Amino acid sequence: MRRLRFRTKAIHAGQPPDAATGAVNVPVYLSSTFAQSSPNRTKGYVYSRSGNPTRAVLERALAEVEEGRTGLAFGSGLGALTTLLENVPSGSRIVAIDDLYGGTWRLFEHHRRQFGITVDYVDMTRPEPLEAALARPATMVYLESPTNPLMRLADLAAVARAAHRARATVVVDNTFATPALQRPIERGADVVLHSTTKYLGGHSDVIGGALVAKDAELGARLLWLQNAVGAVPSPFDCFLVLRGLHTLGARMRAHEESARAVAEVLARSRKVRAVHYPGLASHPQHALARRQMDGYGGMMSVDLTGGLSAVRRFLARLEIFTLAESLGGVESLIDHPALMTHASVPKADRVARGITDGLLRLSCGIEDPADLAEDVARGLRAV
Ligand SMILES: *Cc1c(COP(=O)(O)O)cnc(C)c1O
Repeated sequence: MRRLRFRTKAIHAGQPPDAATGAVNVPVYLSSTFAQSSPNRTKGYVYSRSGNPTRAVLERALAEVEEGRTGLAFGSGLGALTTLLENVPSGSRIVAIDDLYGGTWRLFEHHRRQFGITVDYVDMTRPEPLEAALARPATMVYLESPTNPLMRLADLAAVARAAHRARATVVVDNTFATPALQRPIERGADVVLHSTTKYLGGHSDVIGGALVAKDAELGARLLWLQNAVGAVPSPFDCFLVLRGLHTLGARMRAHEESARAVAEVLARSRKVRAVHYPGLASHPQHALARRQMDGYGGMMSVDLTGGLSAVRRFLARLEIFTLAESLGGVESLIDHPALMTHASVPKADRVARGITDGLLRLSCGIEDPADLAEDVARGLRAV
């Protein structure tokens, strides 16, 4: 097919009308098994852990939008990560970014204790710490950009070059940016990971994950592991993620419009120590964000000067932002990392990383941006 642009691909790539009926959306094939005309003669499907027609359409679409060869869907983002880690031999070394989703950190620590994997956490906002870390052998370099919750960026192309010089595989968790704004494989990553629970699903109604591999060889290995480990999603969940993917391009523009309105209110206030949003000219990596991303997205964090008591007053006054974990849905959510999503990170590490008691993470939804701006202004007046 002709080379299509992202918003067209998200709706059409890998998603022809159903061959049997012409249905424009892939049917939800709720069948665990598939009839064989004689032993081992199939129509391409055997058993739904190994492969399911609804899942196959989602997986093809994910590969297309992330510019990879092989797409694989999982029952959660951490299910995808668990399967990926099954490919890391015991005794190997992972170099990971030092600002990571809490559950990712927890799983890395488990593999460290259980399987003798070494995990070193390094600052990837600058090239030097990574280059120093890669002086010793490493199997995998693992990162998020922007990071959660501090919205720091890593230069994906530079990280991939350094990692490949050291013969390490590069894995990028692209959950925050989504393929609408950033395609790590185009910048040299070997694997992209998603929690499709977030922006790809987009409506806070499904838990899911994905891996996309750049080349067929690693893709085949991960496909084998997907079946062997079995952390697969239901056909209905695949349908929901595919439905979310259709509107991802439009939603990301609306998320960004909301985030810009909210960031402007926060950045003007004297009650705010810092707003971490890559779309603000004041963000230390704004230039990299402009170069590397096709937009700045809907996530930000804000550090309130008054610490925890200011946070409590601010949250109590909000009417639209809902205090909840998760992100990326149409509705605006707000999270207090120190007490909620990042509570499992030891306090000393947390503070060293900048996750203060005054820090709030905002997932700006697609409500009217003016209503969201008024909501945070209301919160600030109460502080
Ligand atoms: C939520 C999240 C995950 C984990 O995904 P689940 O679907 O909750 O298992 C991984 N990475 C990031 C950046 C996330 O936000």
